[in-house]
Amino acid sequence: MSINALKGFKDIVPGEVETWQFIEKTARDIFHRFDLAEIKVPILEKTDLFIRSIGDTTDIVEKEMYTFIDRNGASLTLRPEGTASVLRAYIENGLLAKKTVQKLYTIGPMFRHERPQKGRLRQFHQMSVEVLGSDHPRVDAEMMAMATLIMRELGLSASLEINSLGCPQCRPAFNKALLDFLHQTESICDDCRRRRETNPLRVLDCKSAHCQEQYLRSPSILDFLCSDCTTHFARVKEGLELLAIPYRVNSFMVRGLDYYTRTTFELVTGDLGAQSAVGAGGRYDGLVKQLGGPDVPGIGFAMGMERLALLLEQQGKTLAAPGLDLYVVALGSAAQSKGFALTQALRHAGLTATMDYQDRSLKNQMKQAGKAMARFALIMGEEELARGEAVLRNMESSGQVPFVLTGEVGTWARELAAKVI
Ligand code: ATP
Ligand code: MG
Repeated sequence: MSINALKGFKDIVPGEVETWQFIEKTARDIFHRFDLAEIKVPILEKTDLFIRSIGDTTDIVEKEMYTFIDRNGASLTLRPEGTASVLRAYIENGLLAKKTVQKLYTIGPMFRHERPQKGRLRQFHQMSVEVLGSDHPRVDAEMMAMATLIMRELGLSASLEINSLGCPQCRPAFNKALLDFLHQTESICDDCRRRRETNPLRVLDCKSAHCQEQYLRSPSILDFLCSDCTTHFARVKEGLELLAIPYRVNSFMVRGLDYYTRTTFELVTGDLGAQSAVGAGGRYDGLVKQLGGPDVPGIGFAMGMERLALLLEQQGKTLAAPGLDLYVVALGSAAQSKGFALTQALRHAGLTATMDYQDRSLKNQMKQAGKAMARFALIMGEEELARGEAVLRNMESSGQVPFVLTGEVGTWARELAAKVI
């Protein structure tokens, strides 16, 4: 019996990985244009980090984390999202002292014990951005512009939904109004009934359609924003308008993490069934301080790479692996030895090249070259080699020209590179 991968954990094999590379390359390029720096952080952290940031009454912390006790008896967790780890690193490495506004991105796997389905895995991958040190509403608009540009350069479309969740000044009045509403709304699920008492805002994130139907009549947080939050939200919208980015205000959007303040946003698509969010984020002004750092504001977002890959696949936009520049076809042991050295020299010269070690016939080696999508083949036969000659074949046009072998393999390689690149 062979051993299979865990449920919800997926291999990304050749044929698929090219699409992933395209997504990552596109995003990295855009991150660079926005003057972001990459940060790499561990995937394993102390469990407390996530409890303190994401919030202990969220779905993620209550039911989705991969938490275990290690050999030293410490409680550790495979990160369910990136923000907490990046903020911990920001504090621990004193990044504030290096730059008052730090703009960071990271790309990597996240882990949540959810029910696997299309676009929902237990190990999934995010490209995420965190900007620390500015609460300017234009930064919020810029985040959404960045996410929108990534979608555009991937050739995908999604609509932008935004909301404001207010701040510690205005949230209590809203919580009270929401609680009053919830006490009058009897037919809600047990989870919501429980959360109503601990963290009323959380109920709005309930996945039950029946609950959501009730909540359409719930009070809108936008009616409770303090004047600073109202102004901030207005300026975020103004920023989006200046950049000509269309958006829709969705006052029921709360997001699944407790740390958000003020702006939250989601990029949604109608093409992924229930998994409609391809990217999401928001502002978290109190979080760095809450994690023991300085009182600096922050905002971030994450895009789900599985969902982006699915969308590209659905649109037939999958990418093929790039072919070889040149396949060295060698016949007989003398030619095979020369060919072996030449293949290496071709790589030194910058070409993608390979050869066959199975002592296959000419016909079969040409078949291999075709399979490898080689643009050219250099055919070296025993007799031709003795005469100092080989044949360069253009695999696409089938045109063949003699190639004179003068000097040593390094010279051949450089001449070939000049001909085929
Ligand atoms: P959802 O509502 O779909 O569960 P979320 O609110 O939990 O998403 P975030 O925590 O904000 O999502 O993560 C940002 C992005 O990461 C999502 O928009 C989505 O594209 C992706 N994502 C989140 N959870 C998963 C998962 N289990 N599998 C694949 N992608 C995911
Ligand atoms: Mg979720």
